[in-house]
Amino acid sequence: MPDSRLSTTCCIAGGGPAGVMLGLLLARAGVDVIVLEKHPDFFRDFRGDTIHPSTIDLIDQLGLRDRFDAIRQTVIRTLDIVINGNRLTPVDFSHLPGRNRGVALMPQWDFLALLAEEGARYPAFHLMMGAEATGILRDGDAVRGLTVATDAGPIEIDAALTVAADGRDSTVRRSAGLEPRDYGVAVDVLWFRLPRTAMNPPDTLAYLDAESMVVTIPRDGYYQAGMLIPKGGYPAIREAGLEEFRARIVRVAPFLAEVVGSVAEWSQVRLLTVQVNRLSRWWQPGLLCIGDAAHAMSPAFGVGVNYAIQDAVAAANLLVDPLRCGALDTADLERVQKRRLAPVSRMQPLQLRLHAIVAKPGGGGFLANPMRWWQRTAVAILLPMLRRITARIVGRGFRPEVIEPQLDPR
Ligand SMILES: Cc1cc2nc3c(=O)[nH]c(=O)nc-3n(C[C@H](O)[C@H](O)[C@H](O)COP(=O)(O)OP(=O)(O)OC[C@H]3O[C@@H](n4cnc5c(N)ncnc54)[C@H](O)[C@@H]3O)c2cc1C
Repeated sequence: MPDSRLSTTCCIAGGGPAGVMLGLLLARAGVDVIVLEKHPDFFRDFRGDTIHPSTIDLIDQLGLRDRFDAIRQTVIRTLDIVINGNRLTPVDFSHLPGRNRGVALMPQWDFLALLAEEGARYPAFHLMMGAEATGILRDGDAVRGLTVATDAGPIEIDAALTVAADGRDSTVRRSAGLEPRDYGVAVDVLWFRLPRTAMNPPDTLAYLDAESMVVTIPRDGYYQAGMLIPKGGYPAIREAGLEEFRARIVRVAPFLAEVVGSVAEWSQVRLLTVQVNRLSRWWQPGLLCIGDAAHAMSPAFGVGVNYAIQDAVAAANLLVDPLRCGALDTADLERVQKRRLAPVSRMQPLQLRLHAIVAKPGGGGFLANPMRWWQRTAVAILLPMLRRITARIVGRGFRPEVIEPQLDPR
């Protein structure tokens, strides 16, 4: 029997981008919020690192730009990929309208810490670290809060609104009996770090050839690297041995030869499963799912963090008034889904398409080196057009959100 019971207006499970941003926006607008994060800190390497222009616009709106700029980061204006040794630039953010025309690459824990620190300025913001949502509380059909495991023992939190922002393996979603539809991605990612090389090629998102795809996200002093592998293919890769794994990295990205030896044991390599899925209904009475808990995004285009944040902004814009006056009903929750379903259901098929064409092991085999005449012609004609379109789709997303006046600080 829990020895502690708390009560709040909005209880959010998950201190990722979706949960912390929603908590900050509601608390800033005077709505009492508890955000639960099961880990004791934000410090984890497997989180997405990309902060896109649409999110940086929100940072500007929140007045956090100076503190955001003070975080160690790499800003990239273009996204290069190297296919079979041919360097291509399929995304160029300098074409975007507005002030923010680059992607900031920064450790996500620093970004989350910034939002959490800002939240802590508001008395209505309560962040509980090391607090894991274990199930939902119901009152008839309606969700009325969460059961939570903490170091100090189990507690119950009553809430007018419960939000599942606990990611792709959401416990809250499962407890509510909601099951996403899986769209099937045939790849997983092996995630590891490599030191920067003395030979410093231009910032490059990925190297592809007929065998492999290796991601090299430039971070301060090192690369956050990833190798795409067929789903379920990790045991075979381990069986082939670490030396072959390193050799494979060097075959697709030869400049990494001088640093690849730093991967000395399998414990330095983390397997991350890639999913693309979506709930048909993101809500139940008293419950809303957002971010990956509503629609898991793959790493393709690096937009998942930004979509999670846009969900949070839309939810805050639409729910703050009903929450303030204690009149939240299912129509409000439905409005949030309606608003965000359109951009999500346009982006996910693009991610699946990218996985089917190039973002898979061996996807780079189609481009010869040197390129054939028709490939060179196609690249020369299509790439300039593609750059503008992709900058818009990747940098801003299909429906960038703005923080509306009802969310002004109270
Ligand atoms: C390999 C890989 C690489 C990726 N790279 C990128 C990238 O570079 N850029 C990008 O934009 N997107 C990337 N993505 C997608 C991105 O990570 C997600 O779309 C995004 O993190 C979703 O944010 P979220 O807040 O919804 O969930 P999450 O980021 O998953 O956050 C959920 C939070 O909830 C916490 N939590 C979980 N369960 C509980 C519980 N029961 N109680 C309390 N807390 C809980 C977790 O610890 C976590 O902090 C990548 C995905 C993968 C698989």
